[in-house]
Parts: sequence; C-alpha cells; structure tokens
Amino acid sequence: MLNEWKKQLDEMYIQMVEWRRHMHQFPELSFQEEETPKMIASILESFGIELRKNVGGRGVVGTIKGGKPGKTIAFRADFDALPIQDEKKVSYKSKVDGVMHACGHDGHTATLLAVAKVLNDHRKSLAGNIVLIHQHAEELAPGGAIAMIEDGCLEGVDYVFGTHLTTAAPTGMFLYRSGYTMGAADAFEIKVQGKGGHGSSPHQTVDAIAIGAQIVNQLQYIVSRQIDPQKSAVLSVGSFHAGKASNVIADSAILTGTVRTFDKEIRAHMETELKNIVKGVCNSFHASYEISYKNGYPSVNNHQVETDIFKEVMKNEPQVVEMTPIMGSEDFAYYLEKRPGTFFFTGAQNAKLGADTPHHHPMFDFDEEAMIFAGRAFLNIAYHYAVELVDRKEIKVAL
Ligand code: MN
Repeated sequence: MLNEWKKQLDEMYIQMVEWRRHMHQFPELSFQEEETPKMIASILESFGIELRKNVGGRGVVGTIKGGKPGKTIAFRADFDALPIQDEKKVSYKSKVDGVMHACGHDGHTATLLAVAKVLNDHRKSLAGNIVLIHQHAEELAPGGAIAMIEDGCLEGVDYVFGTHLTTAAPTGMFLYRSGYTMGAADAFEIKVQGKGGHGSSPHQTVDAIAIGAQIVNQLQYIVSRQIDPQKSAVLSVGSFHAGKASNVIADSAILTGTVRTFDKEIRAHMETELKNIVKGVCNSFHASYEISYKNGYPSVNNHQVETDIFKEVMKNEPQVVEMTPIMGSEDFAYYLEKRPGTFFFTGAQNAKLGADTPHHHPMFDFDEEAMIFAGRAFLNIAYHYAVELVDRKEIKVAL
C-alpha cells in the first residue's frame, strides 16, 4: 500500500512544481498572506477535504478522516515569504518587488498539498485522522503557530510532525535529532542615557559611549563565566549607535543584540543577567537606561520516542543522518510544547541547479525534487501511525 502511495506522490511531481512556482512568483509577507491561504483552501476543497479557514488569523487547517478509529497525526507546512529582493534569473522568479520565498516555505506547502491528495484518496484504509496545518507567518515573531494553537489546530491531535527543506544538505538526505535541535531566539535593545558635553571636559559629562562599551564587554562574561560549559548560549551585540562628532561626548547610546539558547533555565538566566549588568554598569557611572527584551520563539525540542519512530520509518531511505543542533529558530517549537512529535530537515541542495546558497539569501533556490523526498517522509510517518501500528495491534490481539 505504501508503495502505491509513493507512486501516486511521484506522479504528482509536475503538479507540485506548478503549485510551488506559482507561490514563488506571488510571495506574501508574514501576517499579510491573502492569496496563498485562498489557494491552499481551494486546492484542499477540490480534493474534498474538510477545512477551517482563518485559523489563528490566516492559517488553513484540513482534516482527513480515516475509515477506522485510530490516532490523529498532524503535519505542518508554513507558507509565508520574506522581505528580500529575488535576484535569481529563473522563469518563476518573484513578481513582487522586495518580497521573496527565500526559505523554501513554498516547497513545504506544495509538498503537504500533494501528501494531502494522496492520503485523502486512501482515507478509507486509514485508521485515525490526518490533520493538515497550513501555517501563516513563521518568519516574524510572535509567529502564526501560537495563534493557530490557541484557535484549536491541535485539538484531537496526538502527534505532530514537520519538516524544513534545507540547502545545507544534498537532496536525498534527511537530518533528525531528538532533544534540543534549534535555538530559542530573543532580542534586546539597551538605551544608555548619559549627559553630553565637550570632548575636552569629560568630568562634566556622563559618557554614553564609554558606558556602552563597558556594557558590551561585561555582557560577554555571562556566557563565558556563568553558563555551564557543557551547555550553550550565544549573546551577540549587533549594533551600537552613539555620537556624531569627534570632539563631542555623546549623551546617549543605543545597543541592540540577539540571545540564542536551548534550555529554558539558561534562557531565563541570560535575560536576568543582561538586565543585572546593564543596571550595574549604568549605576556605577551615573547613567540612566532603558531595556527592551523581546522573547522570540522557544527552542525546538524534539521528542525522543517520535524521533526514534521517524528513524525507524525512514530505514529504507539511504541517507538519514543525525544532525548537530543549530542556533536558528522555528515556531514549530510551540507545537512540540503541546504535543509529542519531531521536526526534521529534508536536504534540498543541488549545486548544478544553483540550489546551494544559504536560506534568506537573494539568490536562494532549492532543488524541487526534494519535495518528493519530504512528501515520502510524511507518507512513511502516516503509514506507520494509520496502517502499520494498527495492523500490529490487531495481530497482537489475534494471538
Ligand atoms: Mn523557514
């Protein structure tokens, strides 16, 4: 049966490419998606799949009801684009100025639509349900996931799975990991308010640049002196703006940066200690300050059992590799806080096609054949929960 599903998926390749290229030419920014969710909904409706629109804002959730009782598994694909100018020279280049599918979300969506068609055609032989989570706004915190969850997209769902295409690995390769797989990303802005004056008379001023420089230095001691060397955290100051003239002491400075972590405790510690250091340094030198600290997505923490199941169902694929954690972030993390599951990567790199630039790059493209691989992985997972697992249980009962 699984081979028949995969054959049907293969036959949908041209269709997947067509959907993907359409989305690629008409990309939409996070929280501004209008046509993409309409397109998704009309395709799912044409398959006869029951769906809810405007879930958590702009999301679309389809449900395929199996012919027998069983578990409900959810697959998620995001569909937003980025504020980047498409500089590729291809026929399906973005037609929207300054907006581009530069992360492969168009590929995630086309893949899930094809998987939906295959599974829906075979729904009578499925035990349990398949939920299709088409999510808006992954690229921009607070993201679409949290709102879709609040709007019930995980109701009745037992397990949740998602994938990201990646040009960091060749087509045909899959990357998995249990536990912390992607980082939590938080951002801060620190405003130091001193007192300006003449460059020759520092004693009459409160020098915001000197104080800001102390803050930059001291912040580096959080990671190097307070974090367990076996764990990880990154704190980077990305901008420091102050002053206008060589003979004037700046009255204020603005510093911004990012903090990346995995553990919840370390994440909280970084925030507390950053505030502590800013307070301490500013108090020492008589400056006042303001801190804005914005929590982005939490870390993607894959569940052990479901990651093991993923490995098991992928055993016929030649290249399934354990990955090291990466510090990039993903709002798939929120689904994993609510339900067991795993988020894996599907290789989509092919230098011959020019699909080897990093994600979020103006030349970004991925190997479209990777959609077949991602789709097969979803079918393997669906087959495990909705066919194989049930068969095994029936055998046990019979014995
Ligand atoms: Mn992405």
